[in-house]
Amino acid sequence: MTAPLLSSLAAPGGDRPDALTVGGRALSREDLLGAAGAVAARVAGAPVVAVRATATAETVTAVVGALLAGVPVVPVPPDSGPAERDHILRDSGAALLLTGDVSAASEAPIETVPVDLTERAAWTKPEPDPESTALILYTSGTTGAPKGALISRRAVAADLDGLAEAWAWTADDTLVHGLPLFHVHGLVLGVLGALRTGSRLVHTGKPTPAAYAAAGGSLYFGVPTVWNRVVQDPESARALSAARLLVSGSAPLPAPVFRDLEQLTGQRPVERYGMTESLITISTRAGGERRPGSVGTPITGIQTRIVAEEGAEIGELQLTGPTLFDGYLNRPEATTDAYTDDGWFRTGDIAAVDPDGFHRIVGRASTDMIKSGGYRIGAGEVENALLDHPAVHEAAVVGAPHDDLGQQIVAYVVADGIGEQDLIDFVATQLSVHKRPRKVRFLDALPRNAMGKPQKKLLPPA
Ligand code: ATP
Ligand code: MG
Repeated sequence: MTAPLLSSLAAPGGDRPDALTVGGRALSREDLLGAAGAVAARVAGAPVVAVRATATAETVTAVVGALLAGVPVVPVPPDSGPAERDHILRDSGAALLLTGDVSAASEAPIETVPVDLTERAAWTKPEPDPESTALILYTSGTTGAPKGALISRRAVAADLDGLAEAWAWTADDTLVHGLPLFHVHGLVLGVLGALRTGSRLVHTGKPTPAAYAAAGGSLYFGVPTVWNRVVQDPESARALSAARLLVSGSAPLPAPVFRDLEQLTGQRPVERYGMTESLITISTRAGGERRPGSVGTPITGIQTRIVAEEGAEIGELQLTGPTLFDGYLNRPEATTDAYTDDGWFRTGDIAAVDPDGFHRIVGRASTDMIKSGGYRIGAGEVENALLDHPAVHEAAVVGAPHDDLGQQIVAYVVADGIGEQDLIDFVATQLSVHKRPRKVRFLDALPRNAMGKPQKKLLPPA
């Protein structure tokens, strides 16, 4: 039986004065519970509340307050322009926008409510039904418009318990991260995970190598862009060698970054895979093997299958288990399309499973599966080959329409001191001929979103 989502909020360890440090402000669990109780009293009965998800103690308090009251909460990226913000507010049906800084949200189309950490109230009502909606999380919008995924309390609790087990995450840990608080990784894992396991949380504001090095944690969360910056700052990287576990996820961790992290910190990062709709479902383990290019095995309760065309080893990854979402808000068709006839969730990602059960994520079916001259080529394999060249800092590979081949491989790279042909020749020394890019375009930076995910739809035409 999964314990209710917030059952350990007032758990032992709760009296540490710095149980949570966010936005430079330290709160004990008692502080948080009192201030969140005041929020709960204010929002109780609302259909949905939105939270302007700045990296602050007010955001954490607002989210926990809404969860106490059983009101579904929708985090809004604080730097989203008015159009994206208003889309999320209207689409979600939020009645109130909670914020630590009312002036920054003054143009919002719904009532804004200030969160005041000095207000306190006891909230004594029991936890709501585990099947009720805890969060409405908008997807990153990598492949289309962001969709609001309905996430139940049961899904969050089951996911956090699976990850606590996989990462041996306990109240003895100090979790450090500086990821945004409007996304699964930063909010669900990073904040609710710390509350549920009883670990300390230090949110560094921004996920910079220096801030991570100074925080002195045991468990660190980052996305590949963060780890890439860490390995380019060897002094900060070495400071992380005392940590217990470095976790990467949200996008593929390039093999060279994995190797550099190991070299500099003496430890191999754990890689986790998931998405807004299923939360984090596959991961390597604290006590297990960690292999570059692999995200390991499903967490407890999750089953996976690969649906491949006949004879192919790679195919679509499908999932089932207690962490799955309850559909997209206001999008019945997208919800129906997300599931197979027998009720498995279609991730839209292409993957392979090694004989020992370790999963490799090849990429997204829509953008990372290239069909060229009758071959199927995973963009990630070509990207890793490019990144193996010391002059290449970032790489994104796509299939562009081609009269003869169907698609041709085009590489976008951030590099210094190397030309197109040399790079193509370099890849040719590592991969078979049909995996060689036909064109290389040099960019100053790859388009990425706030989570560091490459936005391939924003690349210039080939
Ligand atoms: P949208 O669904 O709106 O197009 P999105 O899929 O980027 O956006 P998220 O739910 O934030 O939104 O991201 C989940 C996706 O991120 C996964 O489907 C997968 O493609 C990718 N991903 C997550 N973790 C990993 C990982 N460890 N390795 C490779 N890819 C990953
Ligand atoms: Mg998606």
